[in-house]
Amino acid sequence: MALLEVRNVGKSFGTLRALDGIDIAVQAGTFHGLIGPNGSGKSTLLKAIAGAHFPNSGSITFDGRDITTATPYERARAGLSLKFQITAVLPELSAYDNVLLALQSDQSLWSLLSSRTRRRLNGEVMTALERFRLADRADDLAGELSHGQQQWLEIAMALAPRPKLLLLDEPTGGMSPEERRVTGELLQPIRSHCALVIVEHDLDFIKDICDHLTVLDQGKVLDDGTVAEIERSTRVQEVYTSRV
Ligand code: ADP
Ligand code: MG
Repeated sequence: MALLEVRNVGKSFGTLRALDGIDIAVQAGTFHGLIGPNGSGKSTLLKAIAGAHFPNSGSITFDGRDITTATPYERARAGLSLKFQITAVLPELSAYDNVLLALQSDQSLWSLLSSRTRRRLNGEVMTALERFRLADRADDLAGELSHGQQQWLEIAMALAPRPKLLLLDEPTGGMSPEERRVTGELLQPIRSHCALVIVEHDLDFIKDICDHLTVLDQGKVLDDGTVAEIERSTRVQEVYTSRV
């Protein structure tokens, strides 16, 4: 059974059919890319998976559980994590405290935690920062990091609770080509314990890091397959040459 199964999911905004009978399956340990023209429904699909809104029809199963109407909190507890298109680090807090908040969202409990728990959390925060080359910036305010480093900090925050599936919506937006290349490199090691569903504008980047691609067009799945299969798809080439 796939880690994530989206079955016949529909979502309308008024009369606009943003998602129209979407089926996708994401296997554990795979990097799954969502591509398609602007407005094709990529962000809407990620939000339905994350629980930011509920679909009007269809079902979503994660790790053997029906999560179609589960709250975002319940999904996070089940092992789903996400980073949206818009940066959401808290600029007035240090990089360290941003990750700590992702792990221990109720800071009022901090004084009640045992020193052992605090040491464990400290280890997890530093591991998350190291993974994204931010250990030496731990004490710096998140707002003082470069745009690319803020994006990495957000991915580090999303990964800190050790999810089974990470959802990323255009994580390399605004990055330099070099930062983009490094992002791909830094994501690779998570494959051993976490699957990825990623939306990206940069086709070369997504083809480079993903195993599997789903192509959306006007709220429907236009094509789905391995990167090599999608590269050969004439339907996809037509849509990309005419509309992207
Ligand atoms: P993509 O991420 O592929 O660019 P989106 O999923 O953001 O596309 O949007 C799909 C369609 O749904 C677009 O036509 C968009 O304008 C519309 N849409 C998305 N979110 C909303 C919303 N909250 N209210 C109304 N329309 C929306
Ligand atoms: Mg989008």
